Amino acid sequence: MTRHIPADVDVAIVGSGPTGAAYARILSEECPTARIALFEVGPLISDPPGTHVKNIANADERARAQRLSEGPSPLGDDTSTNTMDGYADAAPRLVRPGTFLLRDGYQQPGEDGLPGAAMSANVGGMGAHWTGACPRPGDSERISYLNNLDDLLAEAERLLAVDAHAFDDAPFASEVRKRLADALDNGRDPTRRVASMPLAVVRHDDGRVTWSGSDVVFGDVTRANPNFTLVSDALVTRVLHANGRAAGLLIKDMADGTELTVSARQVVVAGDSLRTPQLLWASNIRPAALGRYLNDQPQTVYAVRLRDVDSEADNPDVDGDTAIVAHSGVNWVPFTDDEPFHGQVMQLDASPVPLADDDIPTPGTIVGLGWFCAKDVQASDRVEFSDTDVDDYGMPAMSIHYRLTDNDHASIAAARAAVVRVGAALGEALDPEPLTFGPGASLHYQGTVRMGETNDGTSVCSPTSEVWDIDGLYVAGNGVIPTPTACNPTLTAVALAVAGARDIATHILVERN
Ligand code: FAD
Repeated sequence: MTRHIPADVDVAIVGSGPTGAAYARILSEECPTARIALFEVGPLISDPPGTHVKNIANADERARAQRLSEGPSPLGDDTSTNTMDGYADAAPRLVRPGTFLLRDGYQQPGEDGLPGAAMSANVGGMGAHWTGACPRPGDSERISYLNNLDDLLAEAERLLAVDAHAFDDAPFASEVRKRLADALDNGRDPTRRVASMPLAVVRHDDGRVTWSGSDVVFGDVTRANPNFTLVSDALVTRVLHANGRAAGLLIKDMADGTELTVSARQVVVAGDSLRTPQLLWASNIRPAALGRYLNDQPQTVYAVRLRDVDSEADNPDVDGDTAIVAHSGVNWVPFTDDEPFHGQVMQLDASPVPLADDDIPTPGTIVGLGWFCAKDVQASDRVEFSDTDVDDYGMPAMSIHYRLTDNDHASIAAARAAVVRVGAALGEALDPEPLTFGPGASLHYQGTVRMGETNDGTSVCSPTSEVWDIDGLYVAGNGVIPTPTACNPTLTAVALAVAGARDIATHILVERN
């Protein structure tokens, strides 16, 4: 980390979340002589840069890191430190620690809008605050024209340090998995059966847990790369381009407001699904699909208490040697075209709804079910940008246009019925009805800079994430994902970033030879 800002690099990256970090990592591995600079508008909040806040042991320091991530005008004075607070909060404008909501423009009259739309601004992006669930997409969630998708997903799992069995020994986890499998596995392809949730987490021999953030994606190879520079507190206000080719960045130093330009042969914009199209718009790069095909994953939650568990027989932790932590025991119900929901089944360390004072549940016996749907993708769902009004950063103000279709309402109703059915297979419901969050609460916004097989006006970038008609400009993040998905998107977005970074490495090596 340094305040030194290079004036001329081979590759300039905007945004330090997992996808921006993936570009830095792959380029450091495959093209170590390339000069790379990464610019992040938010501050450095942890060490090494990009570390997940849950790895900060001191609660006050963790809360401080979360507050510092909440953008230019933090909303509210919530000082809670648990990133899953609000899991069962019915507020339509649920805000998670470490994130900030779109202040206005999130809903137009007569539309559903995205009241939950949120962002993070810090080194590490939302990847410093996320839950780390990394399921692979299946069936229609997959991008059919990417023949090497499984290779890319495997590479993304390496970068994020994904472990599919980190909490297999958590109290009652295998019992939960067995009940889910009995209820759901019949007729499923073996690769899409109930399983432990792959998580971006390292479980150490002594029981400690380290959550993957961008620090893990950067890895030692990026940190040791003398040709890599990470610049925090630096807002990128324009992508410079000329004659259909990326040329560099215009940057505003958030410390003193000074502006400077950085020349670059290749530019990567990895600023999340709202700010990546915003920066392209501000740079007068406005393909027809920019900001369109916006889709979020409608999310329904429900909580049950496991029935008929014998704490002595079923709990491997009867002596309390392995304390249950938030997210211990996370099981996965994969999306399939026949059962088009992504299920995340998390054993909780506390009940999300109040229980009687003398009712202290055995750890692991309260289970939260989260069912995500894929949304109908339509061009009219979009983020628009103003040519006159600006946001708190002075960037073009956003307006979200977003409607749930009849199909969406039907799939949400089906997800609600499914989660109740699955909950009944596990135990007794804590609430009579599941809770469906308002649009945007999943934090999984996609499509705004979507990938396409051809440049037919319905996509922004090619299968290697290079923006159509602007050579050397790449986009990254969940906004690149072109398919409607229900599963958590970060693994897929990092996989697509791997393909883009490999493409840049090839270009640089060809140009040099
Ligand atoms: P981000 O992580 O959002 O990073 C983008 C960065 O770019 C930000 O730091 C931003 O400040 C910076 N930036 C933007 N514009 C500019 C600019 N103009 N100049 C300079 N910098 C800029 N996903 C999952 O897959 N699984 C989960 O279990 C999961 N759980 C989550 C739980 C929580 C509580 C939260 C908050 C998120 C969760 N997510 C989860 C979502 C996940 O964090 C995101 O999908 C992921 O971080 C996206 O990575 P990214 O690199 O595309 O963008």
